[in-house]
Amino acid sequence: MVYMKKSISLILLYSFLCLTILPTWSAHANTSMVENKMEDRKQLFDHMSTVTHIPWYYFAAVDQYERNTSNQKKKREITQTEEYKKRITAIHIPLQAWYGAMNLMQTKQSESNVMLFNGIGRDGDGDGLVDHHNDMDVVTTMASIISKHGTSDSDMMRGLWDYYQNDRIMKRITQLAAIYRHFDMIQLEGNAFPVPLHANYSYRSTWGASRGWGGRRIHEGTDIFANHGVTVRSTSYGIVEEKGWNRFGGWRIGIRDVKGIYHYFAHLNGFEKSLEEGSIVKPGDTIGWVGSSGYGKPGTQGKFPPHLHYGMYKDNGYIDWSFDPYPYLRKWERQERKRR
Ligand SMILES: [Zn+2]
Repeated sequence: MVYMKKSISLILLYSFLCLTILPTWSAHANTSMVENKMEDRKQLFDHMSTVTHIPWYYFAAVDQYERNTSNQKKKREITQTEEYKKRITAIHIPLQAWYGAMNLMQTKQSESNVMLFNGIGRDGDGDGLVDHHNDMDVVTTMASIISKHGTSDSDMMRGLWDYYQNDRIMKRITQLAAIYRHFDMIQLEGNAFPVPLHANYSYRSTWGASRGWGGRRIHEGTDIFANHGVTVRSTSYGIVEEKGWNRFGGWRIGIRDVKGIYHYFAHLNGFEKSLEEGSIVKPGDTIGWVGSSGYGKPGTQGKFPPHLHYGMYKDNGYIDWSFDPYPYLRKWERQERKRR
């Protein structure tokens, strides 16, 4: 009996270890692997920048855009492979373009063969082969796309336009380039809770619920109730995409982060004066103050209790779709509490 008890407690101890310590450890190992990859990526971009005179943040912007959309249906066949996951960059050039539309062989091959088939893939690491799994080859090819017309900002935009031919993509890449340029670093991780933790506030999970006010649209966000004038802060690294009056949202501001997520802050009392469309922010930066503006012509307020409506939207490459910010808010709140 004593023996039994001991083995049960050992099993309990073991499952406790598995449930608590092991996941923490593996999460940590993953984080440092990701960080190493980021450092390698930055080194590669710096190197390519020296060779091509294309600023590093253009490579970073294209790479991050491709990373953000790596889950798209048309890309999935490649981005789910082990070879792709081993890479340090996320740029994927469709194989038809890479090896040539009439080329039946879609695996690494001599550069001369690829050129024969009018493929745009180029050898970057000097092994004579064009390989769509090779980061140097891919980034070298992207460099030739970007600098097709020259390396002034407008030349590079034309080069990118020739390749992507999509306004939405161009906007995302331009935004990302501006963010990376501003911070001059590639590691822009981390978040902040949208109101200071010392403020009086309350919120609960109401995403998808019908609205108390504002008609029949589902509630695309979380309402954080707080007093008029409580500071509203950016939750991420990003760029101001929209700022101004919106009939429903009142004084509202929208920030696009490096992952392509749009953060929407509505019903503000006012904006931080220095912010304009295109301004760059980091987590915790003041962007405005809690208010009760909205549901009428510009300046209308007081139709409901003061609160911050906070929404998150994911860009899937075609449209923005709303998802529930509540679990993220809880996480950021917890992380911030721990840091203090
Ligand atoms: Zn709301």
